[in-house]
Amino acid sequence: MNTQSGNSANWDLLVIGSGISGLSAAVSAATAGARVLVLERSVREEFGGNTRWTESYFRMKSDSEVSDDFEERLISNAGYNLDPNIVQEVSGEYANWPSYVKAHGMPDPELISTLSEQAGPTVQWLKGFGVRFDTLPTYFVTAAAPRLMPVGGGLAMIEALLAHAQKIGVEFRYQTTATKMERGVDDIFGVTVTGPDGRQEALYATNVMIASGGFEGNPEMLTQYLGDSAKFVRPVARGGYYNRGEGIRMALAAGAAPAGDFGSYHAEPLDPRSGATEALVMNFTYGVLINKRGKRFLDEAPGPVDVHYDHISRDIGYQPDGIAYVVFDQRIHDVPNWKKSIRTDQPAIQADTLEQLAEACGLPAAPFLRTIEEYNAACRDGEFKPLEADGLATQGLDINKSNWSRPINAGPFYAYPIIPGICFTYGGVKTNKQSQVIDQDGRPIPGLYAAGEAAGLYYQVYTGATSVMRGAVFGKIAGEHAAAGLRAKVR
Ligand SMILES: Cc1cc2nc3c(=O)[nH]c(=O)nc-3n(C[C@H](O)[C@H](O)[C@H](O)COP(=O)(O)OP(=O)(O)OC[C@H]3O[C@@H](n4cnc5c(N)ncnc54)[C@H](O)[C@@H]3O)c2cc1C
Repeated sequence: MNTQSGNSANWDLLVIGSGISGLSAAVSAATAGARVLVLERSVREEFGGNTRWTESYFRMKSDSEVSDDFEERLISNAGYNLDPNIVQEVSGEYANWPSYVKAHGMPDPELISTLSEQAGPTVQWLKGFGVRFDTLPTYFVTAAAPRLMPVGGGLAMIEALLAHAQKIGVEFRYQTTATKMERGVDDIFGVTVTGPDGRQEALYATNVMIASGGFEGNPEMLTQYLGDSAKFVRPVARGGYYNRGEGIRMALAAGAAPAGDFGSYHAEPLDPRSGATEALVMNFTYGVLINKRGKRFLDEAPGPVDVHYDHISRDIGYQPDGIAYVVFDQRIHDVPNWKKSIRTDQPAIQADTLEQLAEACGLPAAPFLRTIEEYNAACRDGEFKPLEADGLATQGLDINKSNWSRPINAGPFYAYPIIPGICFTYGGVKTNKQSQVIDQDGRPIPGLYAAGEAAGLYYQVYTGATSVMRGAVFGKIAGEHAAAGLRAKVR
């Protein structure tokens, strides 16, 4: 490909990926008059990546307002030990941030406040395409934040956006994978694609939008960034297998600064025996988690399950063989509607005695029984309140359980195996609040945009129900900004 020799652009915006971020960008840019082409590696029937498979919770208390804890939770979940000098710099005007701060991967307050402010207007925009939002029941028995969701889930949103995109002239190429990108001296991007017949082709565009998700479908990148435990995890739904990281790699090769926690990912607790989409087992707050050595290894119930399932699931991946068993007894039925937290299509392992349960799970009986015995002895009297954090904690263990602790002694006994499933990876490229990709010196790369999983935002612990939202918000902004840039050039 030769982008140096004055190739002319056939498209104003070339979008790589047709999930929520790609389609939001395509529709907003085309609405403003841009010529847009969307590339999608899957067949037409499976377009939409992860977005296709999600129920798509939005962390919002209404269709115009985010949850009360929104910004605070996004910042605090991102962890500790931020350089105080950087914290001080980011409290001032963005324009005055030093270049190293603009290029720094961190929980970026500019992005978090834009997400918070634009969530409402973006939901209104999506409603304009016929998407309906409602507060429908979730699979969380206890939750710290409210959740809104599109009726029909992510699929309803991307189908509505696709239909509108086609109506306003956006072109689509399926089974077409972007593999390489070059920045020309003439502000034209050359993107190499592999089409349905396996042949390569060069496409040229004035703007490129990386909306190709994370790298949850690429075992090589997972191992590179997550380490050895990557072999124990798998995508929670089929869409994740299509996200193989090329978009992130091509942006980094074009000079983008990295952002997001490359060593982590958003995890969900999955039953490894099930092939169902999102085969969740979310009732560990009412039992104990036991690893293959017959030991507990963490506090199963630090608070509401919606706040803690992410890091607990990930920690399971660091246990021997990347697996743990949630063990509970028949008093689980004291928890109203507890079965909504179980989405696997496989039955619980059941036994009349704890010895038999250990054997049925393939766990070493002696340490398993000792662990349950010690846990039972550490439980204290108190009122069990299943639907709120009740402070019913164990006492005196090396690792105490903070809530909902009752002895496990009322047979029959049950267990489910749990592994961490990857929803999406956190590592991506640095962007600004216009969704422009930022280079290693803090400057926007002209014409290059990224949103959704491909743009790094999260560190350590995921703030639930914000990933589809960020794809929609920053995808829409990217399309608008790219189209506005074209108009400015024409003037
Ligand atoms: C089961 C499940 C439940 C979830 N629940 C929620 C939830 O309730 N709330 C929430 O906020 N988030 C949730 N998430 C996460 C959220 O759905 C995703 O993070 C978000 O939808 C990602 O959007 P995206 O546009 O970045 O990527 P995707 O929707 O994954 O789209 C990326 C697209 O790019 C295509 N692609 C990839 N590489 C290439 C290439 N090289 N060339 C061409 N095309 C390419 C893919 O095929 C795909 O279509 C969930 C995820 C899953 C899987």
